[in-house]
Amino acid sequence: MNGTFPRERLLRLAVAGTLGAWLLVLAACPGGHAEEVRYTFVAHLSAPAPPAVSPNAAAAAVHDSLVTATLERDVRTLAAPEMRGRLRGTDDNGRARAYIVSRLRAAGLAPLFGDSFEQPTYVEPGDNVARVRHGTNVGAVLAAEARDAEWIVLAAHYDHLGVVGGAIHPGADDNASSVALLLALGDALGRVRPRLPRHVVLLFPDAEEPPDIRTERMGSSWFWRHPPLPAERLYLAIVLDLMGGRASPEMQAAGLGDALFVLGAEASRSLADFTRALPSSDGVAPVFLSLPMIEAMPYVPNRRFARSDYHGLREHLGRPFVFLSTGRAETYHTERDTADTVDYAKLARVTRWVGVLAMQAAEGSAPLEWRDFTADARADARTLLRMSSGIEASARFPWPLRRALVADRRMVEGLLRRWDAGAAPTPETYRALQLASTRLQAAQWRPGGWYFALW
Ligand SMILES: [Zn+2]
Repeated sequence: MNGTFPRERLLRLAVAGTLGAWLLVLAACPGGHAEEVRYTFVAHLSAPAPPAVSPNAAAAAVHDSLVTATLERDVRTLAAPEMRGRLRGTDDNGRARAYIVSRLRAAGLAPLFGDSFEQPTYVEPGDNVARVRHGTNVGAVLAAEARDAEWIVLAAHYDHLGVVGGAIHPGADDNASSVALLLALGDALGRVRPRLPRHVVLLFPDAEEPPDIRTERMGSSWFWRHPPLPAERLYLAIVLDLMGGRASPEMQAAGLGDALFVLGAEASRSLADFTRALPSSDGVAPVFLSLPMIEAMPYVPNRRFARSDYHGLREHLGRPFVFLSTGRAETYHTERDTADTVDYAKLARVTRWVGVLAMQAAEGSAPLEWRDFTADARADARTLLRMSSGIEASARFPWPLRRALVADRRMVEGLLRRWDAGAAPTPETYRALQLASTRLQAAQWRPGGWYFALW
């Protein structure tokens, strides 16, 4: 996941104590796309959930044959000090890439880009200017029998922040956790070799992190613009970021220690129904949220800020996708995001859940639709109230922040009452919900961050 509060140095200034510096943070945040945000409010997530389906044969086989012992080994390898944070364009990044390729080859998967597991990416500065090499994506495929079959893709970026201010940022949760998950899934696919009606693509994009996030320089943006399979045949993309962080004390108090956030499913009724009817899996509680609920920061009205590799897909392909994350831990984008802090038992559980999701998608019969700029405000309000139910009992937050979080909670309760009584959400009231969601995430990322009370 990219930085919600990416200007780390500016943030430190704010911590040091001036409101002025904090305003600077807001002003300095990257521009992103300046499109006017007008959501259509839907009820795809708040409608009664369809009954859960039973796993198809491939899902059951992959679920049962997943070997989760590789997860910790792979995270420890990718987040080792020798990898020095896997910064795009460095030899360190290249060593991580070579490791991923060797794992995919050993799994018996086919290279995705002709005879290569690697896809060079470029910056395209415009006409008459030579394009400049930027990064390298990695990809493998388990092919369906029909060459022109539809396809699904699972994407987990492998780059991270490198060495910042002399400190290695290992990027264990961000995003070695998701890479390890896909590698374990690749092993299982190679062993089981299910006969599927769709190609299954495992993609490891480069250049997801700042300063590339939300730009055409992202490795995934290049991939979405230059897919090795026809874009219109993409059935579903599954984007993973931060899959192994430990749940905060507040989330645990709220009974959400096993939460796996599923974002983007609100984009159509068919996509919402598909994801909500997935077979249940032990120790994983999918929590559905509209994607806009994590895209309100920085505080710039009428903007949204994509948080991961779905950015270019949304901009260029408009195909169905879901974004999965266990959420941002306190170690997020710090030198403390080490392999020791990852919750491997949880990572193993979500790996099985994602394996089932992938196989259900590989055989899904319902056409999936996707529509941009949708949100389910009532479902989001309910989820937010669930997530914040442990706030008042928590002693971790300094009083201004705690007061703001409690006030947010009251405000969301009021909104939900009005919406349940028949009032329609408006851009303004939904914006208030988004900011409450962002503050809640920020508080759990930086529990000492009194300045988050100032929004
Ligand atoms: Zn990141």
